[in-house]
Amino acid sequence: MASPAVVVLGGGLSGVAAAYTLARAGLTDITVVERGPSLGGLAGSFERDGHFYPLGYHHILHRDQTLLFFLDLIGALPAVRWRRVRMLFHLGGRAYDLGSLRGFLSFPMSLRDKAGFVRLMLKAFTKRDWTDWQDRSAADLVDTYAGAGARAALFERLTRLKFELPCDEVSGAWLGARLHFREGSAPLGYIPGANWTKVLCDGVARLLAEQGVKVRLNAAVSRLVTGGGRVHSAELSTGERLGGDLFISSIPTEVYLRLLAGDRTPEIERIRYSALISVVCATRQPVDDRAYWINLASLDRTAGGIFLLSSLNPSIGRPGDSCVNFVTHLRGRDRPLFHASDEELLGRYRDDFRAVFGFDLEPFWTHVARVPLYSPVFGRRFRNPPLRSASWENLYFAGNYRTFPSIVSTGTALGSGLETGGAVLARLGTRTELPAKVAAFRLATMPRA
Ligand SMILES: Cc1cc2nc3c(=O)[nH]c(=O)nc-3n(C[C@H](O)[C@H](O)[C@H](O)COP(=O)(O)OP(=O)(O)OC[C@H]3O[C@@H](n4cnc5c(N)ncnc54)[C@H](O)[C@@H]3O)c2cc1C
Repeated sequence: MASPAVVVLGGGLSGVAAAYTLARAGLTDITVVERGPSLGGLAGSFERDGHFYPLGYHHILHRDQTLLFFLDLIGALPAVRWRRVRMLFHLGGRAYDLGSLRGFLSFPMSLRDKAGFVRLMLKAFTKRDWTDWQDRSAADLVDTYAGAGARAALFERLTRLKFELPCDEVSGAWLGARLHFREGSAPLGYIPGANWTKVLCDGVARLLAEQGVKVRLNAAVSRLVTGGGRVHSAELSTGERLGGDLFISSIPTEVYLRLLAGDRTPEIERIRYSALISVVCATRQPVDDRAYWINLASLDRTAGGIFLLSSLNPSIGRPGDSCVNFVTHLRGRDRPLFHASDEELLGRYRDDFRAVFGFDLEPFWTHVARVPLYSPVFGRRFRNPPLRSASWENLYFAGNYRTFPSIVSTGTALGSGLETGGAVLARLGTRTELPAKVAAFRLATMPRA
């Protein structure tokens, strides 16, 4: 039987992983359609003076199993170095390092609440699967293990920084899974002399080329042509139509819903996306690089976080440069700040910088990224959509809107692509060995920077 024609909408990491899974299992007619100029989506890069930078901070998490597997597959894992970084909480004009005894003890929270905080962290470190906390709120989770005082002092601030929402409206399952990944306390990975997301995206693009997958770049899907309960073709903005037997949508669900007459998959219709602003800039000024990640927890600043990219990876740009990343998470792209001019944003972020570091930032280049559809808002009632559309029997879904309650990462996007690829293969009566290989994968060493 001839290989079915599969069209993958979107060339982010989930779409790429889905295409790779199918090709590796022997399918020969696979096309990835990507709107941007390269594969990678949110894990994409930009270039300045011959150096590549991520659109916003990206670090490798040691528990991100599928990411580690893919880094190994493309031959990049031996180059990864691990560094224990400091995460600070900037509150009331002071910076607290909760990872140090002194910082923890001086943080404005009662001793009883601090004991509760430790209890919550211990619970999160050991509990891998948080699905039993579906339908319960982050407020419920924090109050159960840490107490309302710890919630008021810390977690209410963190959910506002992430979603502009109180703990009561954010999923407890999401928060538990997020804490499990230990972003603030475990060593983080990077690749010296490179931007690791560029290495990853180039590597997976190479995997697709080796497997004979067709990749259409700068090709935006503007409509899906449907009939008889099936999708027949993807129409590009140029008017060209790509016919297919099977379709995988890895584009944000809000975009997908605009492409066709209607999809009645309830979980898909309910998803709303947060937006993100990320400004990366470089300066020759010496910046105190003892911290990598500074949460602006007073909630009175424009940025929610400042990341010193060169503190994790000192060789990310030119020698001697410091690379600073300001990030603001917004409840949605309709928030006024999302539409502020670059000048206004930069002015406000420089104010934030002065409030934290005590001197004026003088960048010699600046890159502004506005991401209108960054991550689903993981509210209390969030549910993963099914693998296949309830309306169109040959359309499958992949992407980080399917990986709840796990964190939203490069690895979970890749993992979602593998899962969807596996479902398509099962329909065709074939199997993939990739999920078993990922599950069996072990990180042998974590060489320090
Ligand atoms: C600032 C920032 C920091 C992050 N930090 C980390 C980190 O530290 N560690 C980590 O592991 N992960 C991190 N992530 C998360 C990670 O990058 C993403 O979760 C992951 O890349 C998402 O992949 P995806 O395939 O699900 O979605 P996307 O990357 O959004 O892929 C969707 C693709 O669809 C394309 N598309 C959209 N519409 C159309 C259309 N009409 N036609 C054709 N194509 C279309 C898009 O261009 C895009 O390429 C971060 C992300 C950001 C933005």
